[in-house]
Amino acid sequence: MTDAPPGLEPLVVEPPSLCSSRAATIVEEEFGKRGTATELSSERDQNFHVETEDGEEFVLKISSPADDAAALGLQTQVLAHVHDTAADLPVMRTVYTTDGRPWTSVEANGVTYLVRLFTHLPGGSVTIQDLDTEALFEYGETVARLGEALRGFFHPDARYDILWDLRHTPTLRSLLDSVTTDRRRDLAERVLDRYDDRVDPVFETLRAQVIHNDLTLDNVLLNDDGHVSGIVDFGDLTHTALVCDLVMALASVMYRRNDPVEAAEEVVRGYVSVTPLEVEEARLLADLVAARLVTWGVIVAWRVEHHPEKTDHTVDGVDDGWALLEELDDIGLDAVQRRLQTAALGSVVPYPRMETDDVLARRRQVLGESPLSYDDPIHLVAGDGAWLFDPEGRRYLDGYNNVQVVGHAHPDVAAAIGGQARKLATNTRYLHESVVTLSERILDTMPDELDRIFFVNSGSEAVDLAWRLATAVTGHDGAVVTPHAYHGITDVSAALSPEIWPEEDRPDYVETVSPPVETSSHHASTGTAPTEEMADALDTLETNNFGVAAFVFDSMFTSDGILPPDSEVLGRMADRVRDAGGLVVADEVQAGFGRTGTAMWGFEAADIVPDIVTLGKPMGNGHPVAAVVTRSDIASTLMERTGMFSTFGGNPVSATAALAVLDAIEGDDLLSHTADVGAYLEAGLAELAATYDIVGEIRRQGLMVGVELVHDDETWAPAADETAAVVEKMRQRRVLIGSTGMHGNVLKIRPPLVFDHDHADHLLSALEASLAELE
Ligand code: PMP
Repeated sequence: MTDAPPGLEPLVVEPPSLCSSRAATIVEEEFGKRGTATELSSERDQNFHVETEDGEEFVLKISSPADDAAALGLQTQVLAHVHDTAADLPVMRTVYTTDGRPWTSVEANGVTYLVRLFTHLPGGSVTIQDLDTEALFEYGETVARLGEALRGFFHPDARYDILWDLRHTPTLRSLLDSVTTDRRRDLAERVLDRYDDRVDPVFETLRAQVIHNDLTLDNVLLNDDGHVSGIVDFGDLTHTALVCDLVMALASVMYRRNDPVEAAEEVVRGYVSVTPLEVEEARLLADLVAARLVTWGVIVAWRVEHHPEKTDHTVDGVDDGWALLEELDDIGLDAVQRRLQTAALGSVVPYPRMETDDVLARRRQVLGESPLSYDDPIHLVAGDGAWLFDPEGRRYLDGYNNVQVVGHAHPDVAAAIGGQARKLATNTRYLHESVVTLSERILDTMPDELDRIFFVNSGSEAVDLAWRLATAVTGHDGAVVTPHAYHGITDVSAALSPEIWPEEDRPDYVETVSPPVETSSHHASTGTAPTEEMADALDTLETNNFGVAAFVFDSMFTSDGILPPDSEVLGRMADRVRDAGGLVVADEVQAGFGRTGTAMWGFEAADIVPDIVTLGKPMGNGHPVAAVVTRSDIASTLMERTGMFSTFGGNPVSATAALAVLDAIEGDDLLSHTADVGAYLEAGLAELAATYDIVGEIRRQGLMVGVELVHDDETWAPAADETAAVVEKMRQRRVLIGSTGMHGNVLKIRPPLVFDHDHADHLLSALEASLAELE
């Protein structure tokens, strides 16, 4: 076995095979207990259950000849240490020989075996199906508590080379030929490649200590109440990465489940409730679980080839291990990783869980009419990428939420927020590098003229501040917006939002003009030309002594019905505003951060350079952070007049969140991804449009998609009720979209940018079914 990887030898040495009467004799002669012995199953040792005449129970362990006195010494001390540090953890106690030694030796078939006697632990071994949520959580806690108990343990022989130690994963390549199925071998190779890339370079930097190293369900006993009553088999323990114990536990609860990750998430939650994971550990969970399954599969395959006579429980279940690995591969190790990492880093919620009906009723009591989406509101408890989950574990495809640009519960964004919150969260009158780096990174993406940034906390505040800048610089008080625009909730931003104007109560200083729609759109040929409307609006503001401070527009005209602009027309409108002494404000709260796929900012596609840009919503992927970008001359005018300071604007936590979002957009190449998936989605929608007459027009840039539903394409009468019905029907199919536009007849599809082709297919098939039902 010259080329054998380290730690293989203990796995192939012939196990002891004493008969039970010999075992009973040893117990009596060496340990002074008289009873009967019954053999138990084991991988490498031989174990006997011993029952004495007066009802005491023990376990006699005849060790594999591969385990020498050093290994046994290590195990004995570990058990003693756990008793000292965590007396309530149910581990076996060593029973000493009549002359006071922790083990003795016996001869059989010319081989010397070391033999120990332990107290017997109550409870039985469990099957996966026995474990409910609470038991899974407790299993996780127990694993963590054993790690905690062993934290301070030291032993000069603590490094026991055993191939089950995930540290040795790369060496499994030399055994891969034993895997006879091509598909399994390919899969194992891919897992090993990922391990080489992601785990191996950092393995030796992970927290390390002596761990159990085989804390699978096989080695945990539960009593009748489902509580852990025993942790057994310390035969694989070694000094290695602490997280490996958790990984073994995770792998062992995932088999034969509808959603294998769900059970593992619960174990993770239990674990981190005792021992929080470090970010690097959390980041590697899925790869380590996969490595564990490959280790198992490859070792067994090698043994089946070279030592067919050796069969034990590791051989019996191995097909389940491979099946699980294939399943995880189908889900995608990255997706599995996201979920495990989210459970690891984000599971501490300081409020009690409530039944959905309760949440709704109690919410109405305190939040009154605060709006909810859908007749049957959705109770959400978790998110992952493009998916959202309710308390029953049902998942919803998110085709609606633009805020979570880089995906729900993005682990890096979550880790950044958590990490910074644990370190420092102050107002911004102190020096901190996060806000400086963030400013530089954002300004780098802007046209050169735009060289200053202010930080606030919401899109509304950003629009409000843009207005203060514009009025301060121009000395004017009038605004131009589009007829169904939405810009926010503050006094000013609500006044700039015709979508929410109360009937007959339009502010006198705000005029409206039609959006400069693309010439390809049906809407380009209706009504008056926006440029002329702009001229009229500016005249009116002049006549009424307001003048124009700003033309404020959402770069994708989302609330007006998702109308990607015609750049020439928009340019002419902007020119007129500037000629009249006003500023041009691009509100990128909807369209920004890569939504359009072609560029970071919506106005770039329209080829204009605004004087002021407002940013918000996606900026923190759900964490509140917003900003206003402008020229230094404009910024200085306000600063000289009144100054401006926002307590939370640009605080270290928000700034760090926003930096993580920028990293994810760049790191995952989300712009080109958005362009690609957007085009794919549009092609699918075009097919639906060919079949369903109700689809009047599809308008899109990147992953901002509007599907206008009309009664006929002569009159273009809006099919508003049908639009609302489709949104509800999609909800029943667990796909979230919205509606928008002056007449509410435009389906608004605006998913997280991590939306991919499969998600698009899923959305399209739900939409097709919903449209079919309308007919
Ligand atoms: N501007 C636009 C274009 C928006 O869509 C919104 C929010 N829908 C806002 C401003 C206001 O942002 P917030 O809700 O964060 O205040």
